[in-house]
Amino acid sequence: MRQILVLLTVSTMFFLNSCKLVKKPENPFFGVYQTPFQVPPFDKIDTSCYMPAFLEAIKKHNTEIEAIVQNTRTPDFENTILAFDQSGKLLTRVSKVFYNLNETNTDAHMQSIARRLSPLMSKHNDDISLNEKLFSRIKAVYEKRKEMNLDSQQLRVVEKYYRDFERQGANLSPDQKEKLRKLNAELSLLSLTFGENLLAETNENFSLVIENKKDLDGLPQSVIDGAAETAKEKKLKDKWVFGLSKPSMIPFLQYDGNRALREKIYRGYFMRGDNGNKNDNNSTVHRIVKLRVEKAKLLGFKNYAAYIIDDNMAKTPENVDAFLMKLWNSALPVAKKEVIEMQKIIDREGGKFKLQPWDWWYYAEIVRKEKFDLNENELKPYFSLSNVRDGMFMVANKLYGISFTKRTDLPLYHPDVETYEVKEANGDHLGILYLDYYPRDSKRGGAWCTDFRSAGWENGKRIAPVMSLVCNFTKPTTDMPSLLSWDETTTLFHEFGHALHGLFTEGKYIRTAGVVPQDYVELPSQINENWAGEPAVLKAYAKNYKTGEPIPDKLVEKILKSGLFNQGFETVEYLAASLLDLDYHEMTEPEDINPEIFEKNAMDKIGLIPEILPRYRSTYFAHIFDGGYAAGYYVYIWAAVLDADAFNAFKESGDIYNKELASKFRKYCLAESGNDEGMVQYKKFRGQEPSVEPLLKHRGLK
Ligand SMILES: [Zn+2]
Repeated sequence: MRQILVLLTVSTMFFLNSCKLVKKPENPFFGVYQTPFQVPPFDKIDTSCYMPAFLEAIKKHNTEIEAIVQNTRTPDFENTILAFDQSGKLLTRVSKVFYNLNETNTDAHMQSIARRLSPLMSKHNDDISLNEKLFSRIKAVYEKRKEMNLDSQQLRVVEKYYRDFERQGANLSPDQKEKLRKLNAELSLLSLTFGENLLAETNENFSLVIENKKDLDGLPQSVIDGAAETAKEKKLKDKWVFGLSKPSMIPFLQYDGNRALREKIYRGYFMRGDNGNKNDNNSTVHRIVKLRVEKAKLLGFKNYAAYIIDDNMAKTPENVDAFLMKLWNSALPVAKKEVIEMQKIIDREGGKFKLQPWDWWYYAEIVRKEKFDLNENELKPYFSLSNVRDGMFMVANKLYGISFTKRTDLPLYHPDVETYEVKEANGDHLGILYLDYYPRDSKRGGAWCTDFRSAGWENGKRIAPVMSLVCNFTKPTTDMPSLLSWDETTTLFHEFGHALHGLFTEGKYIRTAGVVPQDYVELPSQINENWAGEPAVLKAYAKNYKTGEPIPDKLVEKILKSGLFNQGFETVEYLAASLLDLDYHEMTEPEDINPEIFEKNAMDKIGLIPEILPRYRSTYFAHIFDGGYAAGYYVYIWAAVLDADAFNAFKESGDIYNKELASKFRKYCLAESGNDEGMVQYKKFRGQEPSVEPLLKHRGLK
């Protein structure tokens, strides 16, 4: 997936707390981190450190805000905007560690802290965004901004903060503000509930235990071994266990010859949160959607999608609808052809059944073998995790001159994590990169990029970022390294693209440095995926883990050709989820809905075929109900237009490592990405607006 570069800004991230303040002098969050590069001292951070640190950090932030408000001098850039921009640093520091670890290494104690924090942080956020005295000072600067002799970046920061306040209700009446506070607090708790239910439904409430060896027919040995190890961990003797995390489920769907069992596991997957048990998410979805309409209307927007998209490159939900439907109309006929092709195989094999959603991966794999002659098992030996990692480091080195040095002296939050120091071509320190590869029960699913410290500016000096990539890749077994699927390979390049964005970011102001709209965020990541599949790049990194031989030309050709494989399905299941997301957030009245019926209507409206489910059904659509992608799941494909067009620039130049283009891309689209509107920055790199043609061509949809 995707994922998320967590860009925290004062205006969007803070929430608050009310427990008793127990201040520990040894609390590691309070002093300068005594570690190499001042990375978080994970070895000294005990779960009991968080609550006192949060309470102290919130108090400190309040004091800083109060100092701005109480300032008797005329509001100006320094005493108001800059002071506000630089406030809350302790809170950011604690939040980054806590919220990142709550995703990657959680337990009941962490979850209970998150629950206690939720209303407190929400209140703190509101205390700031609804602080009238603070807003009136920001407004005073905003109104005189043109006469203040500010440079372009200072002007942008002033305008951004003014708009943030406006969007968060600063112009509302006292009654309306109170209502907004309540809505925000409830919404924040509902998201937590959604996420916890989903985690339980994924990791606890379902497992497919195979007792009869015959039921493993068709599965590759590595998958069987993995399932045996899982069984062992669960103290089940002579059995094999499969779960609902994708690395466990997808190979089962692709290869297992037992159709009834494939149905069983896929049902387990797509019924998550919809089982009528204590983890059912239907009422949570209903409530979230309803409250979001109320919130949008309170803020003067006709619906939640209009509120969100107003801040994006796309500007209106109508623009997004039109954009998505254009792609939908190109993709749906391709998916229908794929169904016909697979049905032929079923008929040929005397199957006597109609293709169902749980059959898709199995028959797609047969089509792949027959038509594209590419099977994952043939590929996998060339994509050991360490080779793929070294390959993506090599590409970054060739493009940008940066290098990566493994560190073994940095504290870790889990022994599976690897750390690297990233240096400029001239040896200057650029930042730190954490890599956390494998699934575990304490970690949520998916792959994402985040940071423990953003690039910044303090006392005239650059603050180096500490980036982190989190994945859920197949674990190594006793006698085999972690071998990645092609999808996992591109995922790693993708998340690494986000990390490069974070590492290269420049800018003096927290509000704008590296901060881009949601439909731009995926440009740096998605463009990076392109290099993973370039023949010259593959030859350099895709080497057999046993023999060290580079991937044969025959397989490279197959990978290239396979880029068009299953694109109808891929695009349709993604677009279906995007359109479902938009439908929920284009509701203009806070009506009572039944998510199951709502979802069915939404899919019927666009003519989704019964053989495909949306990539995420409502009750496990974490991006929009427990993540930052509400009315924004479309952004991946919006950015795909940008990335296909941008990579095309390298291709057209005849040199995929074109240093001049790379340096322009680094400067305008990564380092200075927050300096101006996304389209403006993009045009500085490309010299023109992006065209949709490269994307359609790339996906075989045209
Ligand atoms: Zn991403």
